[in-house]
Amino acid sequence: MAEFLFDRMGCAKCGFVGSLLIIVISSFFFNPSLSAHPITQDAGKPRVVLMCLSAHPDDEDGATIAYYTRIRHIKTYETFYTRGEGGQNVIGPELYRELGEIRSEETLAAAKILGGKAYFLGFLDFGYSKTAKETFRVWGGNDNVLQRIVYMIRALQPDVIITNHDTITTLPYRQHGNHQVVGITAYEAFTKAADPTYHPEQFGNGVGPWQVKKLYFRVLRKSELDQDSLVTIPVNMKYHGKTIQQIAWKALKQHRTQGMDKLNFSDLPEVFRQPVYKLILSDRKYPYNPNDLFSGIKPSVRPSGTLPEKYAVALKPFSIFVHPKYSLLKAEGTSHDEFHFKIDTYNHTGSPLYVAAFVNHGRQRVFDEHEELSRAIRDSIVLSVEVPSSSAAADSLVFTCVPLDAKKMPGLGRSTDVARLRRVTAGFDRKDYIGLVGTYDNTLEQTFDEFGVKYQLLDSAMLASGKLNKYTTIVLDIRGYLYRRDLVRYDKRILDYIRNGGNVVCFYNRPPEWNGHLYAPYPIEITEHRVTEETQPVTVLEPENQLFHYPNEILPVDWDGWVQERNIYLPSGDTTLTSSRYHRLLAMSDEDQHEPSTSLLWARYGRGTYIYTSLALYRQVKDLNNGGVKLLFNLISQPRH
Ligand SMILES: [Zn+2]
Repeated sequence: MAEFLFDRMGCAKCGFVGSLLIIVISSFFFNPSLSAHPITQDAGKPRVVLMCLSAHPDDEDGATIAYYTRIRHIKTYETFYTRGEGGQNVIGPELYRELGEIRSEETLAAAKILGGKAYFLGFLDFGYSKTAKETFRVWGGNDNVLQRIVYMIRALQPDVIITNHDTITTLPYRQHGNHQVVGITAYEAFTKAADPTYHPEQFGNGVGPWQVKKLYFRVLRKSELDQDSLVTIPVNMKYHGKTIQQIAWKALKQHRTQGMDKLNFSDLPEVFRQPVYKLILSDRKYPYNPNDLFSGIKPSVRPSGTLPEKYAVALKPFSIFVHPKYSLLKAEGTSHDEFHFKIDTYNHTGSPLYVAAFVNHGRQRVFDEHEELSRAIRDSIVLSVEVPSSSAAADSLVFTCVPLDAKKMPGLGRSTDVARLRRVTAGFDRKDYIGLVGTYDNTLEQTFDEFGVKYQLLDSAMLASGKLNKYTTIVLDIRGYLYRRDLVRYDKRILDYIRNGGNVVCFYNRPPEWNGHLYAPYPIEITEHRVTEETQPVTVLEPENQLFHYPNEILPVDWDGWVQERNIYLPSGDTTLTSSRYHRLLAMSDEDQHEPSTSLLWARYGRGTYIYTSLALYRQVKDLNNGGVKLLFNLISQPRH
């Protein structure tokens, strides 16, 4: 099997110094049901079908799905346009593609509870998007999106389609561009799926034009209610002793990366607890029933449809992800650079995986190793790789894997991930001693470890009664006021620390955990505003502020190469909500927008200083973006008074 892998990689071991240590840490996780064959619908029996369209995992209408599967025994499909890889992850460091894998698993676990069958269209969740136009562009154009959802409709033959992404009857407000595209294409697909001239190449294998009977949009704003024609789902009905609402709640909690398991049911607005729908399109007039989306639709026998594997397979057969994605190349003069990598594998093949790692130095391979992993669905190994500094020109390590039984499973291909090696010129003050209130992301710890910044993680005992004034700066990591209840409890001690000459850097929080409290020295009201175009120019509003000069001189080039977004959850620009005592240090906006200049706030308080920043700095630091790391070090290197 090893030969197979290396044959195909064309790899030859070059005998360069290199050592590899592999330790299997853990194998865990559930096995989502996975079909490797085209799906055949059970033909012959008259029936009706429901389909729910969602942009991301956790957007599905759980209660409605549970009601129709559990109480009404109606076949229900959940179609997700993306796997949610652009979202945040509040339970771990995995982001992007790997987050998509984890969110797919969460979705399948939720679907199992709801009784629905989940499919993914495979569009990329590229982060928060403000407009449908941008989303359509990234997803290959309007017709590329439309024809894919039309194909799903033609193959799965739903009578009723629901979605909560209404952008047809309501204004987009500040809705996610991905949501807007679901609303728009759901509306257009109603007609196009039945049109025999629209993408006729899709026909065959039981797939033909299909007329959906009704399209409903979920009503999320009470003020727009038109009481006469709304359908309210009876969520208090019971299935095996649990109400439909309770089943939906349990399913929603599976989306742990999105913090759903930490929500309180009673905190949810009524519109989220009680699904209500508005009929948008129908192929003819049906009798109205205030509690049923299917009123007037008779079960029918339909052709046996098949769905090709690329749509039916909910997850990729296997994937490999390496952490960290970026590693620091040490200063010249050392003989070796040693790197540690955690490799996560996701494996639905049933075969053990075979993993190889190699380093390219120019065109030459200077290091390679390989190891067999278990057949477990989730597995992790740790790799230590020593690369001679003389090969410092090597700028990446490649990791690739194939199933050990690949010959028996042709066509599965391979999965590859790359770790990049980068030099960073950022410096920090050697006198710095950081107190870190950590949350769910480990970027800061990893960075401090890698650069040798002295720091200590602050636990509850330390926050409650430890001597805080030994720290030059205390850093409150992202969403600290949600994830550290002890921080909420002892926030007064943080304020005292500042008054006595300390510096605090507070990374972003979301409105629910922050607004209505006074955690900062002076009021800050957080909004959902953000600057999502990471290439937008940045204007320094107070160029003389030492945050831009010590210990690193921040240059215009330091704002280049950012990823995903500039900032997120900006404080309000209104000085009656966000105190004018804060100096506003930076200005930036998406094209044609006017976002408030509140991404970096700085204030004196007592003898110390307080910084609140909604810059998406952790994403840049994770990638070892030189400017991002320089700015981070400047924030933590304020002199203590
Ligand atoms: Zn969404």
